[in-house]
Amino acid sequence: MKKYGKGTKVCRACGSHNGVIRKYGLFYCRKCWREEAKKVGFKKY
Ligand SMILES: [Zn+2]
Repeated sequence: MKKYGKGTKVCRACGSHNGVIRKYGLFYCRKCWREEAKKVGFKKY
């Protein structure tokens, strides 16, 4: 596993660096965030 510098944001679902959202202490890219939001039940997006 590659080491990342501090502050590097990586999607915990797919490992992408693109557009990672850190809201609510979660780390998901936009795509995975949508999926998670649906699962968790976030209505606002
Ligand atoms: Zn992702």
